[in-house]
Amino acid sequence: MIEIDGSYGEGGGQIIRTALGLSCLFGKPFRMYHIRKGRRKPGLMPQHLTCVSAARLISEAKVEGDSPGSAELVFNPGEPRGGAYSFHIGTAGSTSLVLQTLIPALLFAGKRSSVTVTGGTHVPFSPPFHFLSGVFVPFLERLGIKVRLSIETYGFYPKGGGRIRGDIFPADEIGSLDLMERGAVSSLAGCSGVGGLPISIAERQKKAALARLSATASELADKPAIDAISVPAYGQGTFVYLECRSASSLAGFSALGSRGKRAEAVGDEAAGELITYYRSGTALDRHLADQIVLYLALSNSDSSFTTDAVTDHLLTNLWVIGLFHPYRYAVEGQPGEKGIVRITPSRDNPRAGT
Ligand code: ATP
Repeated sequence: MIEIDGSYGEGGGQIIRTALGLSCLFGKPFRMYHIRKGRRKPGLMPQHLTCVSAARLISEAKVEGDSPGSAELVFNPGEPRGGAYSFHIGTAGSTSLVLQTLIPALLFAGKRSSVTVTGGTHVPFSPPFHFLSGVFVPFLERLGIKVRLSIETYGFYPKGGGRIRGDIFPADEIGSLDLMERGAVSSLAGCSGVGGLPISIAERQKKAALARLSATASELADKPAIDAISVPAYGQGTFVYLECRSASSLAGFSALGSRGKRAEAVGDEAAGELITYYRSGTALDRHLADQIVLYLALSNSDSSFTTDAVTDHLLTNLWVIGLFHPYRYAVEGQPGEKGIVRITPSRDNPRAGT
């Protein structure tokens, strides 16, 4: 039984999700304690509980401690089975994070799976659906992993009710990444969206994003193509999503509207994130960096990449992956600064040669 201190490093939900995914994949049980210990509302929240019950269902796991607010979880998986699954978070908890939990196990479950998740699609502290489809899935494809995504309804905080679907195709081998250089920026595109609110808000967000880009990175000013869109949603919400395509890479940046936050601040925030990344000259945005390392650790070949920030999420995820799977990694750069990540599979890699 792998023992995991859930308060280690970043100490959030990501430790639980990575542990669940890898536990199912490798058939290794774990016990986690101090779950989300330092958080305002510690323990398992609805999004995490949906991840636990989803991982339990796909692997027929035996589970203890899966109740709201629980600080301890014991998870003992069986063999993951591909198939059609549907999960309801019941709040605006992130649908992307539930899907990301299941992908590693379902990839090697022998047949195609389809997973539908209902909850938040564009909610704080998680990848918005656009990031998942625009950056995360294309990077999985580079690694030889095929996932097809679609969105039916958008879900915002606090009502949720959005619905996404992921089709996960069986993989054999996972490729590697050598992305030290980003290369020249070739295009900037994105959208400014509203659900259940006037399109004029989307127009204002868009205008603010364009203004920030032309004020601070005038060399990019002729590049952006941003659409103002109105999306089908259960509740109300707004977002801006910007994508930066370069010779060798792809990165995504987003900001969300909320009550009392001006539309201009949303556009400005998304553009500001893009500019930070652009100025860093690095290849991967900080979010993709922490999300992709799990797959790179499963590859049989070495990977290396630069990222605009070494985050606690990245360092913590590298650590928790190593509890389930032998591999080596090295990170150059201070937390919060740009950095380089190198990943080397172990000779004892259980996936090597598969
Ligand atoms: P907790 O509530 O315990 O902090 P959580 O379950 O909400 O945790 P985290 O552990 O914080 O989730 O993990 C969030 C994940 O969402 C990370 O992989 C992070 O990179 C990703 N993420 C957050 N914001 C964005 C964004 N704007 N774009 C893409 N990915 C994002």
